[in-house]
Amino acid sequence: MLKPLVFDIKRYSINDGPGIRATIFFKGCPLNCLWCHNPESISPQVQKLFTTSKCIRCGECCRVCPVNACRLTPESVVTDNDLCILCGQCAEACPTLAIEMSGRYRSTEELLAIIKKERPFFDQSGGGVTFSGGEPLLYPEFLVEILDACRKQGIHCAIDTSGFVETETLLKVAQYTDLFLYDLKMVDPEKHKRYTGVANRLILENLQALAGEGADIQVRIPLIGGVNDDEGSIVAAAAFVASLPGEKRLVSLLPFHDVAGGKDEKLGQARDLSALYEPDQETLQRVIEVFSGYGLTASVGG
Ligand code: SF4
Ligand code: SF4
Repeated sequence: MLKPLVFDIKRYSINDGPGIRATIFFKGCPLNCLWCHNPESISPQVQKLFTTSKCIRCGECCRVCPVNACRLTPESVVTDNDLCILCGQCAEACPTLAIEMSGRYRSTEELLAIIKKERPFFDQSGGGVTFSGGEPLLYPEFLVEILDACRKQGIHCAIDTSGFVETETLLKVAQYTDLFLYDLKMVDPEKHKRYTGVANRLILENLQALAGEGADIQVRIPLIGGVNDDEGSIVAAAAFVASLPGEKRLVSLLPFHDVAGGKDEKLGQARDLSALYEPDQETLQRVIEVFSGYGLTASVGG
């Protein structure tokens, strides 16, 4: 079974489902959304992050590297990615934490032990564990195993997904899942492809299939100024959610905040986000009213 690559574990999370939660972030995502605030979640491989401003040019990383992939320059350190085997020894040796490795393979037992430690907070608050990403459904066998184990312990389990996965896989995992946090970016297929890199037909069909099975679903809409905050996009999203089988669902609006810049720099990459902006209060209110017109309750936040 494929062990998941985990890039973060957040304790005391209050935005990833009901109550206080532990959120486990899996690395690897089939989408590449322009606004992604966790760009390190996209690659399904371990990555080396580097913060230039923290580097004091001590040369420790170069000294310990087993393949001579690090080279000291007059300004800082450069890594030859063709040579680097992502062993992480440079990160361990760096005295200023200028180097970090993102992604660690975790076993079911390891993650269960972490989850169980949070149990008192779950019990007091009606919380539980949320598997997020990246895309947790890239690891379906692992998910079934850990969801089943959590369920046997009476721990509430949520999955935060893009929905871009085979329908059969999604419905199988749904049998072990208490709640889906299902991201709906855009209904317009051309726009969806342009901003996320993939078509949305499967995502929309999967949401319909999941709703048809009676799954508990909270639809989450990342609201990105300049991308999907226009009247046409909002009305299309509201109409789609309202047309889903089953009871009327709560909709969470997640307004865009430009917080990924620092992470892009650490990854040695750049994105042009100049056309994106944070939606203002007036826009948020307008969106809530549009959803209300379709009999849906939308609110801002997780
Ligand atoms: S991760 Fe390992 S191989 Fe890569 S630069 Fe660091 S020490 Fe060298
Ligand atoms: S060990 Fe850290 S601080 Fe020293 S040269 Fe390497 S990256 Fe810079």
